[in-house]
Amino acid sequence: MSATSRPKVLVIFGTRPEAIKLFPVIRTMADEGRVAVTSCVTAQHRGLLDQVLAIAGLEPDVDLDLMEPGQTLDRLTARLLVALGEVMDAHRPDRVVVQGDTATAMVGALAAYYRKIPVAHVEAGLRSGDIYHPWPEEVNRRIVAPIADLHFAPTQTAAAALARENVTTGVHVTGNTVIDALLWTRARIAQNRTLAADLDPVAGRFAGRRTILVTTHRRENFGDGMEQIARAIARIAARDDVAILFPMHPNPNVGAVMDRVLGDCGSVARIAPLDYPHFIRALELCDVVLTDSGGVQEEAPALGKPVLVMRDTTERPEGIAAGTARLVGTDADRIVSEVFTLLDDKGVYSAMARAHNPFGDGQASNRIARIIADGFGL
Ligand code: UDP
Repeated sequence: MSATSRPKVLVIFGTRPEAIKLFPVIRTMADEGRVAVTSCVTAQHRGLLDQVLAIAGLEPDVDLDLMEPGQTLDRLTARLLVALGEVMDAHRPDRVVVQGDTATAMVGALAAYYRKIPVAHVEAGLRSGDIYHPWPEEVNRRIVAPIADLHFAPTQTAAAALARENVTTGVHVTGNTVIDALLWTRARIAQNRTLAADLDPVAGRFAGRRTILVTTHRRENFGDGMEQIARAIARIAARDDVAILFPMHPNPNVGAVMDRVLGDCGSVARIAPLDYPHFIRALELCDVVLTDSGGVQEEAPALGKPVLVMRDTTERPEGIAAGTARLVGTDADRIVSEVFTLLDDKGVYSAMARAHNPFGDGQASNRIARIIADGFGL
């Protein structure tokens, strides 16, 4: 079938986690060739996004480059709406695909709705139940739900959350594409170790010590939460059997506090954000994960790494139910005591360190690509 006669699917994304979770879907749809895929990046977070595209071998068809330093949510939302509307008018897609909970996903769905273009939502149905945690992601997701006609729920829990909002048609439990991305990337690293070799010197330096991988970037943790997290890291790093690997998100709200509280503490390797294969390698190397990230909460259980989540609520309860994740909030005393328990109590550690894939089996993209193509009667 020629590209022009195939149904046109526009896939829109703007941040690193969206790129990680959509590249397997884009690659699968492109390989199968049943639909003509156009990828559009809005580039909410330019630097982090480009690394993922490079690893995945993806060249976006449309690159809006809407990143502005210190942009407000208002301005970002307004610029996205105008720019994505123009892309849709120019490309006239038969379906739009968005992922997750970002401004790009929410506005992409809205712009499609204004043009009566059907929307598929990848990673549908995650809910914390609190509109301010995660903020503004919880509401971004909820806005996509009544617009989309295809809802790719990663788990039964997510499908049940949609059902509670009376979204029951077009819901498919597919697994989370983050597991597809993880397995694909691990296989590539296994074939070519140089893809993740930059961590070798750090791993060598940390040999013999328990390694804690830290990531933090959540907006609602900026301010007091970040200060508490920094103090907790300093106290944990004071133990001589511990080393901390901390790829730092480029947001200045993170760096400024860490500079002040941690200074140049030798057991804390504060490094630039890792590209995706290196981050997967870091997850494999570490003993414990301390994070406020959504995606990392999904990846760590798949690798059997205990994950302590520095948040009070989560829209990803599956890791907690599976026993590989715990919510520890952002109080420094609490974080320190939870980390020490894991390090010092072998029973607690081994109960949490079980490889578990509550988020998917690595086949989510195949299911999603098939359902989208079948939807056109192909
Ligand atoms: N990640 C990465 N390099 C890093 C830190 C994280 O590639 O230095 C990946 C990680 O594997 C996960 C995703 O980024 O898939 C999570 O992104 P982030 O924490 O920024 O966003 P969230 O998942 O909270 O929306």
